[in-house]
Amino acid sequence: MTKKQKFGMSTVLAGMLLTGLVFRPVQAKTQKYTNTDFAMNTVVSETLYTKGKDLNPSIGKLLKKTEDEILSWTEEDSQIAQVNHAGGETVEVSAELADYLKKTQQLAEDSQGAFDPTLGRVIRLWDIGGENAGIPQTGELESLLEETGYEKLELDGNKVTLKDGATLDLGAAGKGIGCDLVMDFLGQNKDVSGMILNLGGSSVMAYGEKPDQSDWRVAIRDPREPEGDYLGAVTLKGGEFLSTSGDYERYFMEDGKRYHHILDPETGYPVWNGLTSVTVVCGSGLFADGLSTACFVLGKEKALPLLEKYGADAAFVDEDHKVYLTEGMKERFELMKNTYETDILK
Ligand code: ADP
Ligand code: MG
Repeated sequence: MTKKQKFGMSTVLAGMLLTGLVFRPVQAKTQKYTNTDFAMNTVVSETLYTKGKDLNPSIGKLLKKTEDEILSWTEEDSQIAQVNHAGGETVEVSAELADYLKKTQQLAEDSQGAFDPTLGRVIRLWDIGGENAGIPQTGELESLLEETGYEKLELDGNKVTLKDGATLDLGAAGKGIGCDLVMDFLGQNKDVSGMILNLGGSSVMAYGEKPDQSDWRVAIRDPREPEGDYLGAVTLKGGEFLSTSGDYERYFMEDGKRYHHILDPETGYPVWNGLTSVTVVCGSGLFADGLSTACFVLGKEKALPLLEKYGADAAFVDEDHKVYLTEGMKERFELMKNTYETDILK
């Protein structure tokens, strides 16, 4: 190699090194962003791991928009309110709402009506957790029950018809729908490596993984102790959803009886079957949320085939401080209190 050639080579090499230094993209570090927000009538806790920007404000907006424009029964302009006010006429809804309604109808059928999206007016009558909460007159409840029943919801593509005075209330699945939406949103953002989203402690979404790859864990509340007192924890993998329905979320006491917000669609009364909470884990937010309500109504024995159909795991907590776990839940449940005992559901 001549001197000139050597010089040329080293210039090329130096040039390569330099461009490498100058143009090598800066490897962004994963940052953790936490936030507390209010949406879907509940406190939203967000923990996000991303190499990009903080997406928590966008997630809050997405949840609020879905509630206001689609799911709310109080916002006059929401699609659900429009269907409810249509006086039995057929209403065309967005493809998004049509999809949610199709899924809720499927769950209503599969649970033989234990999950009932048409309980709207019965729920309003009780107003549990609201300003006018109280025990309805027997006659009142009976006549309203005639206007409920999931078979009164008719779907034909995007066209929705409510028969016989029925009204929709997606309260038992709304937070799960929110979790599904956030999961889809995160999937479109390559910078995000993980997130845990918790809506009011009752609907949780786990996405991706933590930087140290440790498990996502969700604490399960002791139904008879104040918030912050937990009886156990459940491990989630990225892509899984958890939902808890409990008789402690919204209730009032009268004559020593607990009037809570999970209603038996057959009687119109709160479910009194010894259960205090049901936690469900599955691969869909909407179904996890709807299933926890349905399983609370059905009780642990009748709920098993339903859980199997949806590939879901569950924990049933009862007044005797027993925690009944499905086989799959056993693997992911950790008991944290010695005043409770676990058993396997078969
Ligand atoms: P939370 O909203 O506290 O997470 P759930 O998911 O169990 O609890 O939903 C309970 C809400 O669902 C009630 O407040 C009511 O609006 C509605 N609901 C009550 N009973 C039923 C039922 N059997 N089927 C469908 N929705 C119900
Ligand atoms: Mg629910």
